[in-house]
Amino acid sequence: MKFPAEPFKIKVVERIQTTTRQIRERLLKEAGFNIFGIPAEFIYVDLLTDSGTSALSDNQWAGLMLGDESYAGSRNFYHLEKTVQDLTGYKYVIPTHQGRVAENLLFSILCSPGKIVPNNTHFDTTRANVKANGARALDLPVAEALDPALEHPFKGNMDVVALGEVLRKERANIPLVACTVTNNSAGGQPVSMENIRAISKLCRRYEVPFFLDSARYAENCYFIRERESGYRNKSVKEIAREMFSYTDGTWMSCKKDGLANIGGFIGLNDEELANRLKQKLILIEGFPHYGGLAGRDLEAVARGLVEAVDEDYLRYRTAQVRYLADSLDRGGVPIVKPAGGHAVFIDASHFAPHIPQSRFPAQALTVAFYREAGIRSVEIGSLMFAEKDPETGKMRYPGLELVRLAIPRRVYTTMHIHYVAESILKIFRKREKIRGLRIVYEAPILRHFTARMEEI
Ligand SMILES: *Cc1c(COP(=O)(O)O)cnc(C)c1O
Repeated sequence: MKFPAEPFKIKVVERIQTTTRQIRERLLKEAGFNIFGIPAEFIYVDLLTDSGTSALSDNQWAGLMLGDESYAGSRNFYHLEKTVQDLTGYKYVIPTHQGRVAENLLFSILCSPGKIVPNNTHFDTTRANVKANGARALDLPVAEALDPALEHPFKGNMDVVALGEVLRKERANIPLVACTVTNNSAGGQPVSMENIRAISKLCRRYEVPFFLDSARYAENCYFIRERESGYRNKSVKEIAREMFSYTDGTWMSCKKDGLANIGGFIGLNDEELANRLKQKLILIEGFPHYGGLAGRDLEAVARGLVEAVDEDYLRYRTAQVRYLADSLDRGGVPIVKPAGGHAVFIDASHFAPHIPQSRFPAQALTVAFYREAGIRSVEIGSLMFAEKDPETGKMRYPGLELVRLAIPRRVYTTMHIHYVAESILKIFRKREKIRGLRIVYEAPILRHFTARMEEI
């Protein structure tokens, strides 16, 4: 196993509180066995999300002091614009305060009822923004993406045969084709350059704009270098430039591979569309030189974007995620394979086969991980997705019951990750003791955030 040694040393530390099992037991009860209800200060290792949780570098903190808070023409905007142009090759750069606002801007202009947006797999906020504008979000993942135990280098790919069919039949109703790199909802799995080239070729043939949802593009490009032939001797930056060159634009949540706590942007080449986006931006976010961000935030993003394509950093980043995946796998814990770029997913149905889907096995694991070890993870299973069939009144359950362990960037040392692996292995050895859950309160929509449960 490659040992993921940190390519940085620590200059500032944040104390984390250790808790006793009794305290955790009480907090779990108070939170209705819902991990979202536990105050973060009582969590030892927080793997809820990798979004906006990165540690800033000394270089980014220094940049914050150079924030120019001018309403228009801030130097930090020009720095961000130049950085994005350099990394992507796009002409126009429009900052937003996070990724979903970029989606809202783009889809409110391009989508309307009857339209269809194909994507390898839409991320939740992407799907919601497509739908909110009356259009249909069509997922076209490759078949390999749906088999959790299958090892495949590019499980994030789009099914280009299916895309070709849709374009042939529905060309007039498709305002854009999107591709998410890495494919977040399919486990942070990468998309190959070959696949991006094939999507691009189809889009050009049918004259449909092609956009990347590039929240984790740097991790994706690193995987291309590691796994796709012909890229071993290219830099991640060169690979990224090639990838963006096949597209017409992108939107990015800089809370991931921007190594920032807040921020996003749209990059594109179409001047007319850029102007329409800017007009809408002024309405909902602010002047195009800050897009809902402070000047200092723009600077943190500009510097973070450059640090995120550093190859020492990406080697350590992907190795740390793989270290956790391999440690769990060697101990027999069922996980989705291979490890993604930002998270490890545990297959809860096989971890705790004695708990039926109606008793929320993945949620039960998140409770066990917190109770036993102070670790916060997140359920992606029945609590999030099960719904009543409106016709039969029967419950429909999702295909997979997963627990996601998302790893914040540059925050935890490999020793923390080792602690997580050891703790989960210990819980796995006495897994028959884990109890299922029953809902006692649920909201009508997005119930997983606020549901209250009790143990059975
Ligand atoms: C996080 C994310 C978004 C939304 O970005 P926010 O900054 O959270 O609003 C969109 N797409 C993908 C793939 C993401 O991971």
